[in-house]
Amino acid sequence: MDSFLLFRLGAKIMKKILVTGGAGFLGSHLCERLLERGDDVLCVDNFFTGTKQNVQHLLGNPRFELMRHDVTFPLYVEVDEIYNLACPASPIHYQHDPVQTTKTSVHGAINMLGLAKRLKAKILQASTSEVYGDPEVHPQPESYWGKVNPIGIRSCYDEGKRCAETLFFDYWRQHQLQIKVVRIFNTYGPRMHPNDGRVVSNFIVQALQGKDITLYGDGQQTRSFCYVDDLIEAMMRAMDTGSEFTGPVNIGNPVEFTIRELAELVIRKTGSQSRLINLPLPSDDPRQRKPDIALARDVLGWEPAVPLTEGLERTIKYFSDHLRTTA
Ligand code: NAD
Ligand code: UDP
Ligand code: UDP
Repeated sequence: MDSFLLFRLGAKIMKKILVTGGAGFLGSHLCERLLERGDDVLCVDNFFTGTKQNVQHLLGNPRFELMRHDVTFPLYVEVDEIYNLACPASPIHYQHDPVQTTKTSVHGAINMLGLAKRLKAKILQASTSEVYGDPEVHPQPESYWGKVNPIGIRSCYDEGKRCAETLFFDYWRQHQLQIKVVRIFNTYGPRMHPNDGRVVSNFIVQALQGKDITLYGDGQQTRSFCYVDDLIEAMMRAMDTGSEFTGPVNIGNPVEFTIRELAELVIRKTGSQSRLINLPLPSDDPRQRKPDIALARDVLGWEPAVPLTEGLERTIKYFSDHLRTTA
């Protein structure tokens, strides 16, 4: 093998990647996939919603490093790429300390962008479909600017993420940073927090425990659920695009379900005797959500491969094992 090729291979093997929020649900899957690909991974997390247990199986890997750190404070490390995922993602967690949620999105983005600027590193932001708020355009394309309440109980998350996108694009325009912004739609899978109040984890845990399944409102609101493996694949492809591509790009599964349909599917898949009960709809709860993924198909050559029934089976197995070992 010639020395140039060896050097190129060497350079690839030596790529060091920072994942903020790496001990969370999505972050832990991302760390795992990057290690499998041969990268060095620095996982930074303050363990607010993430856990050491999520990355326990990676701790023995010499290419993996775990650091407790809060991204609202500056971070001086040396890396080649940054995936910025740090931020609580479920409504009950991000509403627990809303001021801290906005700080995490905004100060966290400034610090990670400052780090990327000093290192000339590529940086990806885990943004969200929440930037579209309660959308008037359906499905949502990236060109839609959204309908977001700036002063409601979801605003700390929605507006924090919108401001982070603004910062990413201003660092790109002003400092020529290589940025990638991905807008993630509802994603589920193993290692979701069992008590995070999100609909998939709630319904599965309730069904497995034979408790009532809590439908908020009439259950006619819709969401589109993406299995975690599909999502991580799209995120890595977005990072690997050339410098001309910044996003924002929607990533998610465009197959839309009502929340009632999801509940019925979970009951069927678990064989549970649980009953459906109706509880009040939380304020500002979006009525419908479904990504337009034409851009992701075109630029990333990607679309989800795991249907909801299959993804739910894997997730039900995870929660069933998890509940047994933590009982
Ligand atoms: P998660 O809560 O499991 O993970 C977030 C991680 O960030 C946790 O490990 C948490 O401890 C860490 N964190 C929070 N504040 C921090 C801080 N100040 N400093 C350092 N670490 C901090 O949630 P997730 O579902 O894995 O979401 C990951 C990212 O993806 C988030 O930015 C979220 O907004 C985004 N996202 C997720 C979804 C989804 O459906 N899962 C949808 C849209 C966007
Ligand atoms: N920063 C950091 N690590 C670095 C470089 C910068 O955490 O390696 C933080 C630092 O807190 C700084 C912020 O990123 O305030 C923004 O950096 P930038 O260079 O854009 O602005 P300035 O340093 O002028 O505030
Ligand atoms: N939801 C529900 N029962 C639950 C949890 C959530 O009916 O136990 C509904 C919630 O009102 C929302 C949808 O399911 O309409 C998705 O909620 P989640 O918190 O998972 O995600 P988001 O609202 O952020 O999309």
